Amino acid sequence: MPMATSPVNTDPIQQRLTQIRATLPPQVQIMAVSKGRSPDQIRAAYQAGLRHFGESKVQEAKTKQPQLQDCPEIIWHLIGHLQTNKAKQALELFQWVDSVDSWKLAQLLDQKAAPLPSRPQICLQVKLAPDPTKYGWSVEELTQSLPDLDRLRHLDIQGLMTILPQGLSASQTRSLFQTLTDLTQQIRDQGYRHLHPQVVSMGMSGDYPEAVAAGSTQIRLGRCLFADPVDAPLSNTHQ
Ligand SMILES: *Cc1c(COP(=O)(O)O)cnc(C)c1O
Repeated sequence: MPMATSPVNTDPIQQRLTQIRATLPPQVQIMAVSKGRSPDQIRAAYQAGLRHFGESKVQEAKTKQPQLQDCPEIIWHLIGHLQTNKAKQALELFQWVDSVDSWKLAQLLDQKAAPLPSRPQICLQVKLAPDPTKYGWSVEELTQSLPDLDRLRHLDIQGLMTILPQGLSASQTRSLFQTLTDLTQQIRDQGYRHLHPQVVSMGMSGDYPEAVAAGSTQIRLGRCLFADPVDAPLSNTHQ
């Protein structure tokens, strides 16, 4: 086929997305992590076909969302720690809260969700290795809270999410990711009435290949998707 008839794709985010997708099993979903990115960058990612977007801060989402009304199919995920005084606002701005990191927050969101027309989708953020800088349930805490979580009527608990600490070896990384996949399966196997977690949200720019190999269903990509406004073009460390 003559070259001139092939569509030439010069949009860098589209190119990066195509390269990343080519390495993924088809069922793995990509969330674009758009914290710190402008509405124009988000629009470019939307035009490249992405629909799930993650923001870390309620206030930042509140500022950017009104500028993206031409992207009606965006599904917003909150992926940062949620302060209890912003719980109600978070449920107005986000369809998903992927960073539900304590029983106290889960209970509060359940209360705030009671009057809503549809149940917010949430993930439980699990801390698999001790890390004083991160929030999340330890495996033990989560296991103890499962019967209570199963009783929450106004939340749709979709799955588990984790962020690994920095500086792990490749084998530690793989083994912790596998732990989250196994934990999700174990919870399903316990036969709770409502709690059937399916989503395993793990893997970021630096570690998504390991996460996917260990069973991730959703990777959350920031740096390797968006050109860094300061350091563009992106280095090839993740390919
Ligand atoms: C920032 C962030 C990401 C994306 O990190 P990158 O290294 O830029 O891909 C993923 N998940 C969470 C929870 C984040 O805060």
